[in-house]
Amino acid sequence: MPSRPEPLDRPALLGWLRETDPAALEPLWARADAVRQAAVGDAVHLRGLIEVSNICVRSCHYCGLRKESAHLTRYRMRPEEILACAREAAALGYGTVVLQGGEDPGLTREGIAGVVQRIKAETGLAVTLSLGERSDADLEAWLRAGADRYLLRFETGDPELYRRIHPGLPGGPQDRFGQLRRLRDLGYEIGTGIMVGLPGQSWESLAGDLFRFQELDADMIGIGPFLANPRTPLGAAPVGEVPNDELTTLKAIALTRLLCPEANIPSTTALATLDPAAGRELGLLRGANVVMPNVTPAPYRQLYEIYPGKACVNETATACRGCLEGRIAALGRSVGKGPGERRRSGKTGMADRSDSMVRNPILAGL
Ligand code: SAH
Repeated sequence: MPSRPEPLDRPALLGWLRETDPAALEPLWARADAVRQAAVGDAVHLRGLIEVSNICVRSCHYCGLRKESAHLTRYRMRPEEILACAREAAALGYGTVVLQGGEDPGLTREGIAGVVQRIKAETGLAVTLSLGERSDADLEAWLRAGADRYLLRFETGDPELYRRIHPGLPGGPQDRFGQLRRLRDLGYEIGTGIMVGLPGQSWESLAGDLFRFQELDADMIGIGPFLANPRTPLGAAPVGEVPNDELTTLKAIALTRLLCPEANIPSTTALATLDPAAGRELGLLRGANVVMPNVTPAPYRQLYEIYPGKACVNETATACRGCLEGRIAALGRSVGKGPGERRRSGKTGMADRSDSMVRNPILAGL
């Protein structure tokens, strides 16, 4: 019998991250699934992803949408098109739409506010925005318009690595943690996340990232493998200490579930891209409780090429819905109803959280 997991202080977390023996990992998978079930239940919430623009002013070294990607045909969806996607998402039974895009100044404060207002008025769906680093005035206007949540991954908590792969705009601040705190203070549900296996990432920094999720008390946490895009500066970079593979990503997801029991954690598209046959399911079996099916119209979807070979890029929204429902049912889980907001048991708050997981009641038994 494999031994039971130990309390998750930093050395224990590092031990789990480095573990590769399948038998030794069984208790981690079992515990992550049990904590997922106890804290957020069996429902898998579906969020309809609308990729509203691939125009971007940034030069992130990992991302195919960076402004230097001259080969890419650029698009920005019109408000009517976004609305049509939201209506389709509502018709498919999704409780939330996620409007994601490059950092595109053409997605104006007023334009997005208008779209959010109309989506809320016409569909009642929860609206999540993921439009990069934006001014406080933009974020406030969108909240007033009815936006519920904002996703902004900090990508890696290693400040030097982050600076290297995410060049700042001239004169602009370079502080995703600051924006996340402001979003929380404004009243958004906040989502963040990382890429696993970035060239230059260390085990230590990856472990630190998982503790950062907990410190931030993040409501949503997206964890996907880094997938090299050959058209970007990181396209040919050698993988470093942390492999950008399925196993490492699954360990990061499982450990995040243990650290943040009540968070909404998606089984990411990047994971499904690495393993189209089983990646989504494995994520859901090892801590995740959310899937974000793509509802972007087909012609645009091909152009939202963050990395090549993105899973399900040729599926229609309806086919995608059917496929996911089947996969979720096969796991003995159900499709979530309603907006699927963050649950709070009220037992834990930011003030109670510490780097030592021993104080977390759910983890005390590990
Ligand atoms: N412009 C927005 C949305 C970016 S796309 C923003 O910057 O927040 C959403 C996520 O895709 C990014 O946060 C990043 O974590 C992920 N991503 C980008 N390039 C990737 C790559 N090459 N491999 C895996 N994930 C990637």
